[in-house]
Amino acid sequence: MHLARFPRHFLAHLPTPLERLDRLTAELGGPEIWIKRDDCTGLSTGGNKTRKLEFLMAEAEAAGADMVMTQGATQSNHARQTAAFAAKLGMACHILLEDRTGYNHASYNQNGNVLLDHLHGATTEKRPAGGDMNAEMEKVAERFRAEGRKVYTIPGGGSNPTGALGYVNCAFELLGQVNDRGLRVDHIVHATGSAGTQAGLITGLKAINAGIPLLGVGVRAPKPKQEENVFALALATAEKLGCAGVVQRGDVVANCDYVGDGYGIPSESGLEAIRLFAGLEGILLDPVYSAKGAAGLIDLIRKGHFKKGERIVFLHTGGAAGLFGYDFAFDFGNLRR
Ligand SMILES: *Cc1c(COP(=O)(O)O)cnc(C)c1O
Repeated sequence: MHLARFPRHFLAHLPTPLERLDRLTAELGGPEIWIKRDDCTGLSTGGNKTRKLEFLMAEAEAAGADMVMTQGATQSNHARQTAAFAAKLGMACHILLEDRTGYNHASYNQNGNVLLDHLHGATTEKRPAGGDMNAEMEKVAERFRAEGRKVYTIPGGGSNPTGALGYVNCAFELLGQVNDRGLRVDHIVHATGSAGTQAGLITGLKAINAGIPLLGVGVRAPKPKQEENVFALALATAEKLGCAGVVQRGDVVANCDYVGDGYGIPSESGLEAIRLFAGLEGILLDPVYSAKGAAGLIDLIRKGHFKKGERIVFLHTGGAAGLFGYDFAFDFGNLRR
């Protein structure tokens, strides 16, 4: 697969490490757990958006943009990483932040990713929950264009076929690592939201005939909707790569049993996952994404769905900067708004 055909601004710290989690494996007494450290991609504390933005920001540069716009939840990791990438390229960055939780804690609204957005020089505007944020962003972009700005808009989560190329690349990178080390892998598990990560991974895995099942653990939408979103984006990504038809509907599997009370609202099982990873492995998860993905992994091991004798790779998608916007969640009496 010839990814070098596509414009790319190389900036991520790659390849990210692939490490064995000995203490977590022993604690759970099930399969051997490995972690792919995409929390270490670089760019303002790292995370999965770095890989997508390498391709998206190269497209923005090629289009002659002097400003990028994107949108996300208040504590969006994607917004923070886009702001950092724009700073690096000397572009202006404007972000629409959707209030999906209604939290009025100062830390949620000003610390964590929000603090970093502003440190990187981005400007932000808030929107209430429930609107069509990508449509709203296009409206605001027109306002800037009327003032003479050359604006490149990036959809929420950087999830379009261009952004998904970053995770096609991750699939190749991971396969290279496990092959070089002689590691037979039975499952790959990760948190899935705006779908670009899972769509890129499944397209890459299928294109090289990896034969490793992929499980996305949902953080927002119910299972049928999440799987439809991932499948649609995987089809478009395969088309872009010239391997249309490589992904079948049955290859796209999401488990959306670990969303809890909703997107951006910490769950008990996610907070337990944060404590286990931090306390046993010295690794930070975030309450919105990676902790819910890990909660799914942990529960499915406890239920015997993933078994002793198997080997699992958990893709850590990052997000630890968000912990500082959620300090209040670690008071167990105060989980809900
Ligand atoms: C955005 C994000 C995800 C989800 O990735 P998608 O490509 O949006 O599905 C997972 N984990 C973290 C930390 C994220 O910021």
